[in-house]
Amino acid sequence: MKLDDSELLRTRLFIDGAWREARGGGHVDVDDPATGECVARVCDGGEADVQAAIEAAESALPGWRGLSARERADVLMDWYRLLLEHKQDLAAIMTAEQGKPLKEAAGEIDYGANYIRWFAEEARRVYGDVIPAPSGDRRLITLRQPVGVVAAITPWNFPNAMLARKLAPALAAGCTVVCKPATQTPLSALAMVELAQRAGLPKGVVNVVVGRDASAIGKALTDSPVVRKLSFTGSTSVGKRLMEACAGTVKKLSLELGGNAPFIVFEDADLELAVDALMGAKFRNAGQTCICPNRVLVHESIHDRFVDAVCERVRQLDVGPGDREGVVLGPLINDEAIEKVEELLADARKHGARVVVGGGRMEALGPRFFQPTVITGVTREMRMSCDEIFGPVVAVMSFASEDEAIEIANDTEYGLAAYFCSRSQSRCWRVAEALEAGIIGINEGLVSTEVAPFGGVKESGIGREGARAGIDEYLETKYLCLGGL
Ligand code: ADP
Repeated sequence: MKLDDSELLRTRLFIDGAWREARGGGHVDVDDPATGECVARVCDGGEADVQAAIEAAESALPGWRGLSARERADVLMDWYRLLLEHKQDLAAIMTAEQGKPLKEAAGEIDYGANYIRWFAEEARRVYGDVIPAPSGDRRLITLRQPVGVVAAITPWNFPNAMLARKLAPALAAGCTVVCKPATQTPLSALAMVELAQRAGLPKGVVNVVVGRDASAIGKALTDSPVVRKLSFTGSTSVGKRLMEACAGTVKKLSLELGGNAPFIVFEDADLELAVDALMGAKFRNAGQTCICPNRVLVHESIHDRFVDAVCERVRQLDVGPGDREGVVLGPLINDEAIEKVEELLADARKHGARVVVGGGRMEALGPRFFQPTVITGVTREMRMSCDEIFGPVVAVMSFASEDEAIEIANDTEYGLAAYFCSRSQSRCWRVAEALEAGIIGINEGLVSTEVAPFGGVKESGIGREGARAGIDEYLETKYLCLGGL
């Protein structure tokens, strides 16, 4: 990986404003998913490092919380500018550790930075209330204060943006943070905090502990009474475990967990637009996003036409290593990811589904490349209707009526995103209101933006990231009752 600024490639833990070796002394290899080669060796942090990071965050809290909102916003804006200035280097680091195409990685740097700008702006609008009192001798007031020390645990699929979505509102609110990025993709997080430090973030306000033993690091964070809030993005199973672990100290929680998004194409849809929306939503990050359409439901009257149009587009996708010009689909993150896609496809085939395009690995490119795939005749009984595919597979089932489509769409414990395409206004309202999901894309596949609330219902999570609501997750409301007036 060639960088203009080699100081962005950091491999040690960031604690109390300093780059430190792990107390245990070990290292973890960070691999390039495209080649399997080691791109960097980072320090393998553990419980003692987490304790040091929590202490640093606790010590930094009074100073950071005590700044004016404008002073905090100024640091965030400087950080935002630095992230954009170093976009190409940050994208190169991300592509090397995560695999996504360079252009998409640069897009993620913009996307993540936008959260930082947004919450720099929101920092100055953390208003309380004056509440009309029940009697004249009192005044009732609310203050909104930072929760305190926050733990942020993030996944590998968006190594920059998932962290930005947590750090920006936490810092804007006046919280200090201990981050644990995914073991596969720590370099993006470390590069981000290098720039935060250059932007003037005081020591201890953000700390990063990277390590192989995620459950030991997680336990040290969830057991600590100093940590008042956990914000987690990752799998539903780990999220549930963390939720249980937070019960001991009754921490505030934000959870952004798995999804099983339906993408419904009604008979009155604009087919060209529907194909565009599906391609955008499905193949971003090689299908490895929690809002990727997992089940594509197509009305039986347009099924064949729609599938033909999708297949034509899928055949044109350029697959390859993320740093090659023109590539739009990179490798999957690791061997388990490829194996899971293969298992889900084998199960679907066994139960009668038909692979129309793709369906196998692309060995010539490397062991982690998978053909963009379209499979039809998928049914609810197949595992891929219940499990997140997290790979480049369009799984199509057909339906006969609107009620049936809604019933199938909601037949899941998840409720993150849902998409549908229709030209009927009344149907758009009806279906949007009936779908059990936190995010609905209507005639649109790209729904993420910092100005809108991102989050799920049911087992897809708790809380919202981005938007006006995003900062609330890092604030407590304090009620003051002034009597004897
Ligand atoms: P994925 O399947 O996307 O890798 P995970 O939920 O396993 O999702 O990982 C999301 C984040 O949670 C990563 O940073 C990972 O290291 C971390 N993680 C995994 N297991 C635990 C755990 N038991 N406690 C705390 N963090 C964990």
